[in-house]
Formats: sequence, structure tokens, C-alpha cells
Amino acid sequence: MDISKEILSRIKNTLGKNDVNVHLHEPSFLNTNALNYVKDCIETGWVSSSGKWVSRFENLLSDFTGAKHVIAVSNGTVALRLALYLVGVRADDEVLIPPMSFVATANSISHLGANPHFIDIDKESLGMCPVALDKRLNEIAVLKDNILVNKFTEKKIAAVVPVHVFGLPAKVEEIKKICSKWNIALIEDAAEALGSSILSNTKKIHCGSFGEIGIISFNGNKVITCGGGGALLTNNSKIARLAKHISTTAKLDHPWEFFHDQLGWNDRLPNINAALGVSQLEHLEMRLKLKRDLHNKFLNSFEDFSGAEILKESKNCESNYWLITLRLLGNNPEIIRKKILSDAHASKIYLRPSWKLLNKLPMYSEAQCGDLSQSYIQSERLINLPSSPQLMANL
Ligand SMILES: *Cc1c(COP(=O)(O)O)cnc(C)c1O
Repeated sequence: MDISKEILSRIKNTLGKNDVNVHLHEPSFLNTNALNYVKDCIETGWVSSSGKWVSRFENLLSDFTGAKHVIAVSNGTVALRLALYLVGVRADDEVLIPPMSFVATANSISHLGANPHFIDIDKESLGMCPVALDKRLNEIAVLKDNILVNKFTEKKIAAVVPVHVFGLPAKVEEIKKICSKWNIALIEDAAEALGSSILSNTKKIHCGSFGEIGIISFNGNKVITCGGGGALLTNNSKIARLAKHISTTAKLDHPWEFFHDQLGWNDRLPNINAALGVSQLEHLEMRLKLKRDLHNKFLNSFEDFSGAEILKESKNCESNYWLITLRLLGNNPEIIRKKILSDAHASKIYLRPSWKLLNKLPMYSEAQCGDLSQSYIQSERLINLPSSPQLMANL
């Protein structure tokens, strides 16, 4: 049998009775308190950008992730833009990111008028490679008037943003050491990584808690959703206070005066979305368990197969397995992948290739890049598989 047929048949067998109209990750509110909580918002009139569900959502997230402060905002892209702004990224600066990510990682930088600068990934975690980061900084970085700049563009190197891709933890401890060495701010794009963690000195640390700020997304396709939503995680109380302030138009507290002491945004998460989020958070542990079971099922299905492998969390890492991912191992991966995708879509299994590398998109084709060879190799070989927890149980 040809390899693409063999792979698709193994995927179908794993999905069993769920093998039609199956998307990568779908939201589910079945058997949750969503309706009751939203009803409370509607009945009390507290539907907008403050209310008890917002603080409840933030407190539950803080308990779950161990982050001292959580600031809920309207989506993950906004959370990234706010995080970058809070660590001092401004127009014209450069921010180092991996090219293998969702477009929002780069867009949030552009929204501030700053520029993404692409750093290669490592094969194992698919996240930013610490060795490639240090190597690139050695090539480009110089101190000018005590500010770290790219000697070729003369722009300030203002932040590093690793991404925990598909929920697999990036090598963020090593990256943090490099950021400290060069004195650059570290922001983690943990949009996909709620429930992912790294064992650090026998302590489990949630992804998004290593940098100055980490962000999470609650878009409809993520592990849990608020309809739309995002959050900043930080252990720094000064950053937390400022995040709340500038995400609520930087208005000073006063019974009637409108006084805004700096540039701000209207970025806060509406109460009605937070109510949905709380109902989802109550089911998070169970969903993570079901996703892990599904990942195990895929692992077993591909165990004895040499043409492809299911990606696994690295040593000392726990993945939420947001999107379970298959890596093609043989020759001509692009041709085989195309065949698998078109056959799968014809049978209503909506598999996806990993994103097109960000430096290949028209708005980033002129961006600064380090050597991106591993990103190119990996981006031809990856296929995301259906990963909804409800594929394992009637939620
Ligand atoms: C989803 C996602 C975002 C953006 O989150 P939104 O809530 O959709 O704005 C950012 N980065 C990554 C890696 C994502 O997957």
C-alpha cells in the first residue's frame, strides 16, 4: 500500500466511529454550567468589561497556572501586543520570534510598529532553538549607548518571544538564560499551552511563567474557550498593575472624572465571555486527560510504523497536546503530505499542515532572519491531527 494511504488508514482506525466531519479542535459546552453563568450576566446586566466573572476567571487561572497575577483580555493577539508594550517594545524595535507559529505572534509586533526577526526552531520541541538564538545574537547584537541593537539595522533588540507550539513546551529555561545574559525581555507565547508545564528543579512550572509575561488564548479552537479571550500571566506585581491600567483606557479611578494618565486601550475581557471561560475551566482537567488518552491512542497506532511518528513531549515536559501532530519521516514529504491532506479532506477528516512559515508571508518576506534550516525541514513534514477531547467521550 502506498505510504499516504497507509497513514490515512491508521488515522481513520484511531478515530474509529468518529471518522467523518472531524475538525482539528472544536469547542464543547455540553454538561457545563455555561448557560447558567451567562444567564447570570444577562439577568444582572453585567455583560461588559467588568464584573464578578472576570475576577473569578482570573483567580481560577491564577490557581491553575501558579502565576501570581492574571489579567484577562479580549483575545490572545491583544494579550501579546499588550505584553510587548509593557516590556517596552515600541515602533521600529526588533523582536526575536520563531517563524513556525500562528501569524498573531508576528502581527502583534507589527501592530506596535515594531519588526519581527526570525530565529530557527529545534527539531524536538518545534519551539525556538536556544542555540540558534544565542548564535544569532552573537552575529548581530552590539551595545550602543547602553542599548542592545542589531548592528546591521541599528534597531533596538527589544524582546524575545518563544512559542509553545501545539502545546509542546519550548526550551524556555535555556532561552531564559540567554535572555538574562543579553539582558533582553522574555515574553512567552503560550497561547496554545494552557495545561502544559515543565519540571524545573522538581517543581512543575506552567508554560507562560518563565518570562516577564506569558500569554494564553481562549479562542474557539484552543483547549478551552471564552468564545474569544486571552490572558496575561505574570509574577511581577508592577507589570500586573500597569497591564490592568492600560487595558482599561488608563483611566484613573474617580466617581465621575474622566482622566486618562497615558495611552491606553480598551482590551479587557467582557464579563459574559469570562462567564463562559469559568464554565470551561471547571472541565479543564478532564479535557486534558481525554486529550492525553487520544494522544496515546495515536501513539499506539503509529508505534510500529517507520514512515511517520507522533510527536511526544520532551523529557521533564508535560504537553497539553492541544494539536496532536504527525511528522513524516521519509523522502518527498511535501508530495506525500499533499496526498494525505487531499484524501483526508475528501473523506471529511479536516487535517491541516503546520502553518506556512511566517517569513514566507507577504508582510514578513523582507523581515530579518537567522539561519532557518530546521524550520524549513520541519515545516514540510508536519500534519496536525484531530485532537478534540470529545473524540474520546461524550462530553
Ligand atoms: C491562537 C494563537 C494566538 C492568538 O490568539 P487569539 O486569541 O486567536 O487572538 C497567538 N499565538 C499563537 C501561537 C496562537 O496559536
